[in-house]
Amino acid sequence: KPRILSGMQPTSDSLHLGNYLGALVNWRTLQADFDAYFFVADLHSLTVATDPEVIRRRTRLTAAQFIAAGIDPERSAVFCQSHIRETTEVAWVLGCQAAVGEMNRMTQFKDKTSKGQSANVGLFTYPVLMASDILLYNPQYVPVGDDQRQHLEITRDLALRFNARFGEVFEVPEGYIPKESARIMDLQDPTSKMSKSSSSPKGLLDIMDDPARLAKKVRSAVTDTEAEIRYDVERKPGVSNLLVMASVLGDTPIATLEQQYSGRGYGDLKKDVAELVVETVTPFRQRIDELLDDPAELDGILARGAERAGEVALATRDAVFDAVGLLPAG
Ligand code: ATP
Ligand code: MG
Repeated sequence: KPRILSGMQPTSDSLHLGNYLGALVNWRTLQADFDAYFFVADLHSLTVATDPEVIRRRTRLTAAQFIAAGIDPERSAVFCQSHIRETTEVAWVLGCQAAVGEMNRMTQFKDKTSKGQSANVGLFTYPVLMASDILLYNPQYVPVGDDQRQHLEITRDLALRFNARFGEVFEVPEGYIPKESARIMDLQDPTSKMSKSSSSPKGLLDIMDDPARLAKKVRSAVTDTEAEIRYDVERKPGVSNLLVMASVLGDTPIATLEQQYSGRGYGDLKKDVAELVVETVTPFRQRIDELLDDPAELDGILARGAERAGEVALATRDAVFDAVGLLPAG
């Protein structure tokens, strides 16, 4: 099976519905066809100053969310980035291949610093760490959202450059955008994507939020002044977003929904979407609570994932160190 790898930062106390439908649901599907590696990018999360206790809590929560979404740790490696010490070792070597100028051009760095976030060196070298935690596992594919495309390009550039200079050590990974990946929009501003950092609370559906509040947010979603339930992203972004949610959550094609709702009002659609959200979120939360109730068990899962990922990472690290001329230790 070809290998695939993806990660998520432990930077919030809940995933939102966009993360769930746009990322985790795809990961769950992919593990059937790929040798899958999924990790919590805890090292990357250190680029934003956060209380240590909060990092610990969110790291376990993020891993629990993977598993509750149906990532099977018996089948896929589920682990913490920091448990693989080769990540930072290889990042050093890759950093020595990267030019300051190309890091300067990274839009994420530019965006975050222009917003006045103080720039630590970790934020600047973020793409090098990301390249390392991808290339260590030699995956053929990396599922990434639009926002991470530029970082994946740098990863590929660094791999090609390294291979050209030192021999074929790294697989050069391709981005993987699943055919039917759902993009969920902000409920209050349906032309922008739902985002944990830029959506207003009313526009954001946090999976860990109270179900009654979630339902209320769906019922208050912005629509338009027409009365027709039709998928048209340009002219009817709000209604289209509700249709996408109904389609993915209820596993019904949009065309079928358009027929079902023909002649009915927006209130009906909202009520149904609200129910679907609550039906999806309730068991998901229960599973997360169970997993978090037993941190030892969860840590055990992460340790087993790290053991599996670590074997691959160690082999790559040794090949990298050898290729650049570092002597073997002992
Ligand atoms: P931030 O605002 O901090 O960038 P985010 O809400 O965009 O946060 P990320 O942590 O950047 O969330 O993304 C995690 C995963 O969820 C990525 O794979 C990303 O592509 C996906 N994702 C994020 N927002 C959406 C959305 N609205 N619809 C579908 N997928 C999404
Ligand atoms: Mg994002």
